[in-house]
Amino acid sequence: MLEESHHYFGRAADVLGLSEKVREILISPKRVVKVELVIEGDDGALQHFIGFRAQHNTARGPYKGGLRYHPSMDEDHAMALANLMTWKTAVVDVPFGGAKGGIDCDPSRLSRAELDRVTRAFVAQTKEVIGPTVDIPAPDVNTNADVMAWIMDEYSKYFGFSPGVVTGKPVDLFGSEGREEATGRGVMYALEEALRDRGRALSDVSVALQGFGNVGSHAARLIAERGGRVVAVADHAGGVARKDGLDVPALVDWTREHRTVAGYPDADTFDGPDIIGWEADVLIPAALEDAITKENAADVRAQVVVEAANGPTTPEAAEILHQRDVTVVPDILANAGGVTVSYFEWAQNIQQFRWDRDRVTDELEKRMRAAYGAVREVARQKQLDLRTAAFVLAIQRVGRAALSRQSVREEIDFG
Ligand code: GLU
Repeated sequence: MLEESHHYFGRAADVLGLSEKVREILISPKRVVKVELVIEGDDGALQHFIGFRAQHNTARGPYKGGLRYHPSMDEDHAMALANLMTWKTAVVDVPFGGAKGGIDCDPSRLSRAELDRVTRAFVAQTKEVIGPTVDIPAPDVNTNADVMAWIMDEYSKYFGFSPGVVTGKPVDLFGSEGREEATGRGVMYALEEALRDRGRALSDVSVALQGFGNVGSHAARLIAERGGRVVAVADHAGGVARKDGLDVPALVDWTREHRTVAGYPDADTFDGPDIIGWEADVLIPAALEDAITKENAADVRAQVVVEAANGPTTPEAAEILHQRDVTVVPDILANAGGVTVSYFEWAQNIQQFRWDRDRVTDELEKRMRAAYGAVREVARQKQLDLRTAAFVLAIQRVGRAALSRQSVREEIDFG
């Protein structure tokens, strides 16, 4: 996966004509921490897990990025995803760098008490490298507000009251209004902008979604509220479809109870992987990486793909979609709503001041539309696809900050 994020970086670096030296300054991770977590399971036996925190870049501010609890979590994933966070925070212009981490585990096999213990063990082992002005974790795949609350609680035991050490906390525990739905809401704004470029609107499109976790379900709800027809949704256990649009709130209720969309009664069923080639105007991959590959990219029938997940399209697939004139809104733009509201949460924590939901929503909308507009402008000026344009914009912003911090003299026009 690291290779893929380096590939996209390299393309944009070529457009900017960056020297090897500058590329190296911008691409090298600053630190990767690997920790062994040993906890007592509910049955009294010891359980071992490996945790990671990759810290990529702090040129524009403290490290920032999620924690994912998943069996695929390893050093390569943590580094690649940390890398993406550096460019993502720059695209939406929030004052952070990039990090990512997590624990190699299957949370569906852990009790709530075991999850609490493994999370606290992770904090105990990483407490010297995280902090409100150092590195601020947040939710990612299989982590949520509860996990963030445990992190804040554990960290505060060592360093005193520290709500700003983590974002995505419960609203009752220094979290922000609107954080939980923020990534999905940002995806909806990004889709609206992409459709506008094609002369279309949310109210006249059909949407197929892969993944119905926090991001996918909120995106679906908000799209449906604006008249979009969510015609198919797939997850790890299967897919459900309805030509005239699924009842999204009912599907959300079903999923909350059954932990999958599979089995939802009011719909046709299909095999999950078929979602990629679904007959719909819009495809939203909102699950894990490598969903659209060179094997299935030619099957995509959507005109617009919005990358709600991180890294869902491989470089070969991106090329195929580009040839076929499919608009791909890249992850570092499309799913940046989450980290944007994380920034609002952190700012509220630092100031000890609470924003109401309308303020959060208004500011998020402003930031997402401004970021989209800036990427669109780079794409137009330099004749680039949206992903390369987003990387160009991000590299310009990170590059200016990084080089002004050091004595390296390079004749680069960062634009
Ligand atoms: N995990 C989310 C992401 O990939 C949010 C990160 C954050 O809020 O720090 O963007």
